Amino acid sequence: MQPQFLHAVQQLIPAERYFDDPLSTLAFGTDASFYRLTPKLVLRVESEQEVIALLKLAGQYQVPLTFRAAGTSLSGQAVTDSVLLVLGENWQQYQIFELGERIRLAAGVIGAQANQWLASYGRKIGPDPASINSCKIGGIVANNASGMCCGTAQNSFNTLHGMRLVLADGTVLDTEDAASVAAFRQSHAPLLAELSALAQQTCNNPELLAKIRHKYRLKNTMGFSLNALTEFSDPIDILSHLMVGSEGCLGFISSVTYQTVPEHPHKASALYVFPDIASCCQAVTLLKDTPVAAVELLDRRSLRSVQHKAGLPAWVATLSEGAAALLIESRAATVPQLERQLAQIQQQLAAFELEQKVDFTREPAVCEQLWAIRKGTFPAVGAVRETGTTVIIEDVTFPLPRLAEGVLALQQLFDCFGYHEAIIFGHALEGNLHFVFTQSFNSAAEIQRYADFMREVAQRVAVEFGGALKAEHGTGRNMAPFVELEWGTEAYQLMWRIKQLLDPQHILNPDVVLSRDSQLHLKHLKALPAADPLVDKCIECGFCEPVCPSRKLTLTPRQRIVAQREISQLQQSGEDSARLAALQQAYQYAGTDTCAACGLCSTACPVGINTGDLTRQLRARVNQRYQGLANFAASKFSVISSLGRTALNIGQLGARVFGAAMPLWHQAMPTATRAFQLPDKPEQDSGLIPVLYFGSCSGRVLGPQQHSQDPRSLAEVSANLLQKAGYQLFQPPKLAQQCCGMPFQSKGQFAAAKQMQQQLHQWLMQHSEQGRIAVFCDSSPCSLTLREALDPSLQLFDSIDFIYDKVLPKLKLTKQAAPLALHVSCSAQQLGQGRKLTELAAACTEQLVIPEGISCCGFAGDKGFFLPELNASALSDLARQVSKCSRGVSSSRTCEIGLSRHSGVEYQHLLYLLDELSDAEC
Ligand SMILES: Cc1cc2nc3c(=O)[nH]c(=O)nc-3n(C[C@H](O)[C@H](O)[C@H](O)COP(=O)(O)OP(=O)(O)OC[C@H]3O[C@@H](n4cnc5c(N)ncnc54)[C@H](O)[C@@H]3O)c2cc1C
Ligand code: SF4
Ligand code: SF4
Repeated sequence: MQPQFLHAVQQLIPAERYFDDPLSTLAFGTDASFYRLTPKLVLRVESEQEVIALLKLAGQYQVPLTFRAAGTSLSGQAVTDSVLLVLGENWQQYQIFELGERIRLAAGVIGAQANQWLASYGRKIGPDPASINSCKIGGIVANNASGMCCGTAQNSFNTLHGMRLVLADGTVLDTEDAASVAAFRQSHAPLLAELSALAQQTCNNPELLAKIRHKYRLKNTMGFSLNALTEFSDPIDILSHLMVGSEGCLGFISSVTYQTVPEHPHKASALYVFPDIASCCQAVTLLKDTPVAAVELLDRRSLRSVQHKAGLPAWVATLSEGAAALLIESRAATVPQLERQLAQIQQQLAAFELEQKVDFTREPAVCEQLWAIRKGTFPAVGAVRETGTTVIIEDVTFPLPRLAEGVLALQQLFDCFGYHEAIIFGHALEGNLHFVFTQSFNSAAEIQRYADFMREVAQRVAVEFGGALKAEHGTGRNMAPFVELEWGTEAYQLMWRIKQLLDPQHILNPDVVLSRDSQLHLKHLKALPAADPLVDKCIECGFCEPVCPSRKLTLTPRQRIVAQREISQLQQSGEDSARLAALQQAYQYAGTDTCAACGLCSTACPVGINTGDLTRQLRARVNQRYQGLANFAASKFSVISSLGRTALNIGQLGARVFGAAMPLWHQAMPTATRAFQLPDKPEQDSGLIPVLYFGSCSGRVLGPQQHSQDPRSLAEVSANLLQKAGYQLFQPPKLAQQCCGMPFQSKGQFAAAKQMQQQLHQWLMQHSEQGRIAVFCDSSPCSLTLREALDPSLQLFDSIDFIYDKVLPKLKLTKQAAPLALHVSCSAQQLGQGRKLTELAAACTEQLVIPEGISCCGFAGDKGFFLPELNASALSDLARQVSKCSRGVSSSRTCEIGLSRHSGVEYQHLLYLLDELSDAEC
């Protein structure tokens, strides 16, 4: 790469968003596909101006650029060995028009976030990819992504109202801004004339026109969107619609305006199992004309892949070999309307012989169970694959009348090529089937098997059945060599003409969608070497990225795993020791130190990986030498706690004396907890129900901040609040020696953690009278740690569960008018307390503010004291969002310190506010 180019880029992009080191380029070199390319340079772009300038530089120096939104693409379209432009955090703008009928969204908005904004209007965006919780608008539009319900009618192409785009030459066109359109018509008259001419020629060519119409009656993301030429006559519309599905090869999409679609509140689901695929597909044809929202087909092998899962009917395991199922959902605005729809659907299916069925139900738990079957299939294959193999999900469309034949043809190919684990499921109404299989790329023979298999698949699907080789996932590198086979030479040349017009220098994502290399799909295949059994099942899908608190500062969970895979491969092969050393050194801070070990990644991961476990494991290796010290600390826990209190007293004194000369001390630092005496055993004649108080060590040491709105200790507040509902907290002797073990566990000191937990267990057993008396734990992180560590015979309640279930019904609450900020900590999320916390907080205020895009606060126990940049990065957007709030609530003392510091608003445990606002119900 020319030094002049790099120099110019360095003038443009600040150092903290410019990455050319081995770890960062490796980490960003993956998307969810089975291709890997390592970019030479990764730039996090934060504005359209930066993109324009970079496009101009790329043109000037002939440097290829690839755009990256969330990197969840499956066909290899978001990787490059040149320069990768990753959308930063600043692409979050949105605007809602006409009561939710339309929404304008910047390229970096996550699809699910857009739907949250629209929820109160009863609307949603049309595209509904299964990856919607992670993927971003730029990628959704550029892939023309779709899912179970959207079909072709509600994809980005068909629900696009307007677009703001940047061409390869750096020109901006905003199709909703009359001035921009007028200027563009003048500045780019020859381009627009060419597009009009291409459209005219295409429409005048009956054979080509018929082919394009046929292709887009199906779900189809192969090649560029040629229907833009046949469905629009204004070249501005043609251009904006060509950008849909262009996979970053024709220009940059800054924002789009969608025509939204209704999100009906009432739904019902059913599972019908047919004895064979022919009758199953015949039923699909009939369902096409009924009011169904989704019809998912599952072949016998996909049902088998999940038949062992808890909660599934036992009969799933006994279905016949040829059985196939339809999972059907219908949605409506009202219940009577839904009932009418269900009757219509049931009538259509009445004549079919069935092997089994779960008839339509509106029961959310049963519906959830049914959809869990469908959602579990892909991870199920991923979970059983051998380490070192990859899991591939293909995405084809058959014309609906030939769907049954298509399924049988695919099953025959699986048998022929030895893919015995392969399963088929998909969006049957559209003839769109996914098939999932595992593949090794570790030997020439395996690569050849894959090549032969894909050649046969392409021949059958695209040529014999006239289907599409990619229905939703985009052409990428994976199918670029097959575009001509599927579309024929004339249409293929037309696509090259469009590429030439819009990207004459071929700087935009070269080789993606269109490539001259017939073997491209067999190059740059991703190896998935074993790293650690804790993460070896990772399929690099990227679903975990949005929830990770270190994603803006250093690495995401996916990137940590990618780096560990490379490190372990280098260790085993003995190759390139310099690279190994560089990666290991950089990983210590970026991977290990800045992981909050919060475990939130596991909540988003389809195969349940907790990258925090890997981090703790790595810390255990490094911290082995401190094991003796940790065991000593565990045995002298009460002394350490008391030292902590003393340090806080000294710190507060120091801050008063030295002020700003103590940079690590800030106004949110806690004071030492104020002493408060609870009875040390149940008081027999109090008339109150005794509850054992397990106050966390953080609450015992870290009191409210200096000049707090409520300086009481959490113990005092808890006792006061519970008493209003008829409970008496008591605190047996030697609480000061107890700890849940989490501070040790998070540092990989597993032996010391276990020691603390065993000691605590005995103490709780003894004082709760072997589990007869309930235990009240006042901190979510401790409750989460103890959930799995303690004997279930102990009735351990986290404070939030206890208050919600047992105390709230007995309180009379007066809401405060002032806005209140709520932080649902990562522990509370993993304890499944999001709804309870939200309802409790909502009961305290007229205006509840739950900041967006903040999952874990990154304080991570004590990390916030020693590595404050993680906390600062995770909460960088907090202050803006809670600026109108006078106070904030949470359920973890350490989180509250960081939240208070980075918002300027005091956060306290929710119990403080509940106590202030409540009286006992008489
Ligand atoms: C488990 C799993 C399930 C999936 N399920 C579905 C599904 O049901 N349906 C479906 O359609 N897809 C699915 N996908 C594929 C993928 O998630 C979607 O296509 C998604 O829309 C991609 O969005 P992204 O933000 O990850 O984009 P990226 O992968 O980052 O990028 C996608 C493409 O868009 C380009 N691009 C990104 N931003 C811009 C921009 N601002 N301007 C121009 N070009 C840009 C990139 O260069 C790339 O070519 C799935 C993926 C996984 C891993
Ligand atoms: S850890 Fe899980 S969610 Fe994250 S990339 Fe791997 S498989 Fe996907
Ligand atoms: S444990 Fe938390 S910080 Fe660590 S990778 Fe997972 S989400 Fe990120």
